[in-house]
Amino acid sequence: MTERTFSIIKPDATRRNLTGKINAVIEDAGLRIVAQRRIRMSKAQAEKFYEVHKERPFYGELVDFMTSAPVVVQVLEGPNAVAKYREVMGATNPAQAADGTIRKLYAESVGENSVHGSDSLENAGIEIAQFFKDDEIVG
Ligand code: ATP
Ligand code: MG
Repeated sequence: MTERTFSIIKPDATRRNLTGKINAVIEDAGLRIVAQRRIRMSKAQAEKFYEVHKERPFYGELVDFMTSAPVVVQVLEGPNAVAKYREVMGATNPAQAADGTIRKLYAESVGENSVHGSDSLENAGIEIAQFFKDDEIVG
């Protein structure tokens, strides 16, 4: 089934000029970038986006990191895009990520792990709506 998922190229990656290299991995995996914008995330946006992790010990650090430099927010489209992109990203901890995945190639640590991808179709819809209007997505 054709799906859309939400992706963020995180500050550790934009800082190292890795946007193009990460986009190449995404496109080579058969996912189409149907919307993309470089933004500076506000504290309020980051807090809301990671609200599910509010009680975790790393929440404050995560919000600080996500607002520390620009990010690139994206909508990716393709067959089974949600699961496909999770596969392309690799495990949260780069030490456990499979060869060829974005996190294996580029992530610096479990916290500074280069990319975000939605973990379910339902969350993909919620996350896309947080950052994009319908007419900004051109499939
Ligand atoms: P994401 O939601 O960013 O796609 P994920 O679904 O693989 O990543 P989550 O468990 O949802 O991982 O954690 C969200 C983010 O919180 C991680 O991507 C990482 O940046 C940060 N994080 C997770 N675990 C830790 C940890 N133990 N220490 C520091 N940061 C962490
Ligand atoms: Mg997650």
